[in-house]
Amino acid sequence: MKYEGMIFRPPSEADSLILQVTVGCSYNRCTFCGAYQGKRFRIKRFEEIKEDIDEVSSYRIKRVFLADGDALIIPQEELLRILSYLRAKLRGLERIGIYANAKDILRKEVEELKALRDLGLGILYLGLESGDPEVLKRIKKNATVDQLVHAGKRVKASGILLSVTVILGLGGVEGSQTHAMETGRVLSEMDPDYVGALSLMIVPGTPIEKEIETGRLVLPTPFGLIQELETMIAHCHFTRCFFASNHASNYLPLRIRLPEQKEEALKRIREVLRRKDPALLRPEYLRAL
Ligand code: SF4
Repeated sequence: MKYEGMIFRPPSEADSLILQVTVGCSYNRCTFCGAYQGKRFRIKRFEEIKEDIDEVSSYRIKRVFLADGDALIIPQEELLRILSYLRAKLRGLERIGIYANAKDILRKEVEELKALRDLGLGILYLGLESGDPEVLKRIKKNATVDQLVHAGKRVKASGILLSVTVILGLGGVEGSQTHAMETGRVLSEMDPDYVGALSLMIVPGTPIEKEIETGRLVLPTPFGLIQELETMIAHCHFTRCFFASNHASNYLPLRIRLPEQKEEALKRIREVLRRKDPALLRPEYLRAL
């Protein structure tokens, strides 16, 4: 496999074959994101992708994740061609996953997403980050709350599983509770199959690092982040969702089914908040990503 630069994938794709079909992120301007710094965006040529698929075609591969940052930006015909080739070559293939941003999704009609699903696209990862419009503007998310909700609903309507990422701490101390409440509310509107909650980690060289250095953004304390998690979960009303805060960046790892385990989870979080004992939190050295 030929990879260009650092490769990122969702934690749940740890056992998947990572197939790099694009390089970088077509947008690459979210203020907190350093994932694709310095990578010039391009869609790989089909011949390059085909070579990578041919190389692994004798292996039994069940899951494939299409990298990099927003591979759904690939024009429909080209993406259908890649998925068809994957299906033809990897006989045991059960699921293909992909990152997408709201605009990539909204460029495709439900029928087009269904056509991708029929060729094996089983899960799509979308970064909501925050449900607070002010935060979305400040982090330059390049999508409004409305667009994000529509994008999420369109994925659900296509039958592709929807996994949404949110980031604790993005509202700073001042906007902490609004960020948490609005994120819970917007997540509920999207009603995703999976939610992954991360805590904001400051990547050197990103614009958000400057905001922190100059005091324009003050990060919540570890217990402040856990309070956000509590507020967010309390405001989440899902049909059926797996909610995880077990990402390495978090101080309190949780893996819960909502709505079934909501009260139990809230009870546990509130107990941690009541005791405020640092020994109950994931130690800093384990939070290194
Ligand atoms: S968060 Fe996603 S959309 Fe924003 S710059 Fe990073 S990869 Fe691109």
